[in-house]
Amino acid sequence: MPFDLLLDVIAYIKKTSKCPSCKAKYCNEDIFVLSTTACMETSICFGVFAVVCGECHFEGALLVEANENRPYEAATSFETSAISVNEVLDMHNFLKRWKGDVKELFQDKKV
Ligand SMILES: [Zn+2]
Repeated sequence: MPFDLLLDVIAYIKKTSKCPSCKAKYCNEDIFVLSTTACMETSICFGVFAVVCGECHFEGALLVEANENRPYEAATSFETSAISVNEVLDMHNFLKRWKGDVKELFQDKKV
C-alpha cells in the first residue's frame, strides 16, 4: 500500500471507527499497522490494523480495503486475543496471494 494511501486509511479509521466497548474514537497512538498489500491488477490495497483503545484498552483488529480514490472499512473492530508473529505473517502471505476483493473474503462459503 502506498504511504500516502496508508495515511489516508489511518485518517479514515480515526474518523469513522470507534471502540466497540466504550465508543471512544481512536487516535494515532491507538492504531498499529500489522500488514498491507496491494494488487497490481486491480489497484486495490488491503491493510490489517490492530487497535487498542486509549480509554478502556479494548483490543481489536480492522481489515481495510482501499483504492486510490477512497478507503473504506470492510470489517469492524472485533475483540482479539494477543496476535502472534506467525498469525501476522500468515495473514500477510494470504493477502499477498488474494486475487479477489474484501467482499469475497467475508462471503459465507457454501459447502
Ligand atoms: Zn474503549
